[in-house]
Amino acid sequence: MSENKIPYKIYLSEDEIPQAWYNLRADMKVKPAPLLNPGTGKPLTAEEMSGIFCEELVAQELDNDTAFIPIPEEIRDFYKMYRPAPLVRAYCLEEALGTPAKIYYKFEGNNTSGSHKLNSAIAQAYYAKKQGLKGVTTETGAGQWGTALSMACAYLGLDCKVFMVKVSYEQKPFRREVMRTYGADVTPSPSTTTNVGRKILEAHPGTTGSLGCAISEAVEVATSNPGYRYVLGSVLNQVLLHQSVIGLEAKAALDKYGVKPDIIIGCAGGGSNLGGLIAPFMGEKLRGEKDYRIIAVEPASCPSFTRGKFAYDFCDTGMICPLAKMYTLGAGFIPSPNHAGGLRFHGMSSTLSQLYHDGYMEATSVEQTAVFEAAERFARVEGILPAPESAHAIRVAIDEALKCKETGEEKTILFGLTGTGYFDMVAYQKYNDGLMSDYIPTDEDLAAGLSALPVVPGQE
Ligand SMILES: *Cc1c(COP(=O)(O)O)cnc(C)c1O
Repeated sequence: MSENKIPYKIYLSEDEIPQAWYNLRADMKVKPAPLLNPGTGKPLTAEEMSGIFCEELVAQELDNDTAFIPIPEEIRDFYKMYRPAPLVRAYCLEEALGTPAKIYYKFEGNNTSGSHKLNSAIAQAYYAKKQGLKGVTTETGAGQWGTALSMACAYLGLDCKVFMVKVSYEQKPFRREVMRTYGADVTPSPSTTTNVGRKILEAHPGTTGSLGCAISEAVEVATSNPGYRYVLGSVLNQVLLHQSVIGLEAKAALDKYGVKPDIIIGCAGGGSNLGGLIAPFMGEKLRGEKDYRIIAVEPASCPSFTRGKFAYDFCDTGMICPLAKMYTLGAGFIPSPNHAGGLRFHGMSSTLSQLYHDGYMEATSVEQTAVFEAAERFARVEGILPAPESAHAIRVAIDEALKCKETGEEKTILFGLTGTGYFDMVAYQKYNDGLMSDYIPTDEDLAAGLSALPVVPGQE
């Protein structure tokens, strides 16, 4: 098909929503390291995990071998409310940049929660419901995960308790109210409602909170209330699995027109959207069938891949969660309060960490003023107001397209546009008022967190 026949938006039909999630781990020669029990230093058993997570999700978490896991019909029905998500050819952006590069983005913001997180929220809520649970607990940072989970729980009639990082709870009242409208119970974290929250508040009075704190609180509530389990919106293998619908759809849409991306770019917080977007492409790369350049983009103020250590660490500040082997800045790491763009988790998916460690992907970090500059440029030509998280990927997509302009190369770039930024207007306001600044942590800033990594027997 000739190049100029490619439509602005490539839509798939409802029937083309994937029938199965693709489990990237099945094609990895070196599997991601298992979660460890922090008490024994031994891999967490399914039984130990099932006190925290739903049973079916535990099975998915531990499954390193099954390549395709069928998506239950009930979940596909829910997906039909907002999927397939469009794959967009960014003709207007290409023209504005004057680049010979061809830019595509997979837009995941076409649902009320405004991000890709709904893809995993509905799956996790579904398995909790199927197990006969009363409800689920979770943490949320900027609020997208909490919003998505509230929507999924409302749909299935499950109770939903959300611990929201305090700074976001205060800065993003509208997201909080969306969650409450869907019936969720929202508590600013750290709070005085949990033991771990009280401990953290005692040690750091006036803290603005972190995802790590909120996770500790949510896990405590799940494990101390019968009929509740904890669910997590990123980082875990199961979340990457659910998010593979992003990549499977993107690849199906590109395949229709015989387009093969040269570069695939995604923002990386805990790694779920990137893990999902790259899944089928990385599968081909791992099997030696095709090659792609894959780039993870993180904030310079929270640089887990680019400046963290690949080591076992806690996922939470309270150190009650299992240990995960990942690129981490240390569980005590809290990004500077002027950091406005999300992606503030101290660690990174074990799966992506292993792939990065083994050289299958690259990572780069960008400063937030440059991110918002890219967001503004994108919004003005492509029309969509991007989430600041997504704008990290836009920044690098633009930079790569501008390199093509210099060299004359007609590379094809695919990036993940994970969500919309309507609830991020405090950050946009800062940028518009010229009050946004960049803070890059010094080596000394990072040293404290990195030197406090737990010592795990056999992993020193
Ligand atoms: C949560 C979120 C991210 C980052 O999370 P990942 O797990 O790394 O994908 C990126 N973009 C948006 C819009 C989000 O809501």
